[in-house]
Amino acid sequence: MNADEPQMNVDKKPKPDPRSSAFIGGHDHSLPASQGPGVGGHGEKLLAWYRQGHRDLPWRRTADPYRIWVSEIMLQQTRAQAVIPYYQRFLERFPTVDALAAAAEEDVLALWSGLGYYSRARNLHRAARLVAGAGSFPRDYDALRALPGIGDYTAAAIASIAFQLPYAVLDGNVLRVVARVENDASDITATRTRGRFRAVAQEWLDPRHPGMFNQALMELGATLCLPRNPLCLVCPLAAVCRAREEGVAAQLPVKLRKTAAEQIDGTLLIVRRGCRILLRQRDAAARRMPGFWDLPAPEDLPAARTGRHFGEIRHTITHYHYTLTVMAASWAPLPKANPGPRFGWFRPMRLAGIPLSTTARKALKLVGIL
Ligand code: SF4
Repeated sequence: MNADEPQMNVDKKPKPDPRSSAFIGGHDHSLPASQGPGVGGHGEKLLAWYRQGHRDLPWRRTADPYRIWVSEIMLQQTRAQAVIPYYQRFLERFPTVDALAAAAEEDVLALWSGLGYYSRARNLHRAARLVAGAGSFPRDYDALRALPGIGDYTAAAIASIAFQLPYAVLDGNVLRVVARVENDASDITATRTRGRFRAVAQEWLDPRHPGMFNQALMELGATLCLPRNPLCLVCPLAAVCRAREEGVAAQLPVKLRKTAAEQIDGTLLIVRRGCRILLRQRDAAARRMPGFWDLPAPEDLPAARTGRHFGEIRHTITHYHYTLTVMAASWAPLPKANPGPRFGWFRPMRLAGIPLSTTARKALKLVGIL
């Protein structure tokens, strides 16, 4: 516990220097009273805490920018534990950026199946082709940022972790830590707040160890500075955390703009012929998951008769909550000139080699086929 550490006197804090690298985009007039470089002198504590006990994740055992990039893309919107098996399979199959660039998109999507947010995989593949074509991996922030699928966060993560460049990352975990340490109740969905918090994170960043510092801050958010019950008693930043001092940590960060949840109900059909299962392929021009294989819905097979009710599966994408009833159905041949979706019969062992939607995967697990 750090309760005996001296508290930071915010009134004596010097103003940010606009000539320093910490000064970003002229935000000094609106910066919160930041704790200064190294989080009020507690950067070493944070790094020591990280060195002692961080989770041993496979992407933390490499400095290869390609591997770090793959992990950062997979980790967007997805928990670390869920990413590990996908990361390992993906890199076994595509161990280098050249191997990924040479792959067919369908093979890339097949290995991504179940991770969701498939535009990430498509962009990664497109970017790999650009990198392979250029002959070397980009080594600076702007060149990384220019690749498809790489935004501010990912460019800063790769630049700092792979190349030790001093760019602070700002993900959901870091936003939460900044809001709490600074006791700042501004709405984090506002661009202006994010810009300000980014400047604070940049000011905190230890330029001697930017990669490790960024990872330590994210690890703190993921394992101690938890959304509902922050573990302040064992936190290396407790002595400089204003929200902890005021007893308001669990109320931060403030997120005002909330999209209303939408409930969507539907049905998925399990149609079998011998040991094969019927799937339909989404159109190549579909807005969501083009080219993916899915279980047919009743409207795809109007002549099919439904039978056994297997149960329900649930799936959430952003604010859409799906409840899908899974039912057996008989196969009724489609007219020859069927203008509808493309269908295919698959043996279960082939399903690992095709891009399969997460809802189909869940339904096939429910039925015991996967
Ligand atoms: S003291 Fe508590 S609220 Fe503050 S950064 Fe640490 S875990 Fe988060």
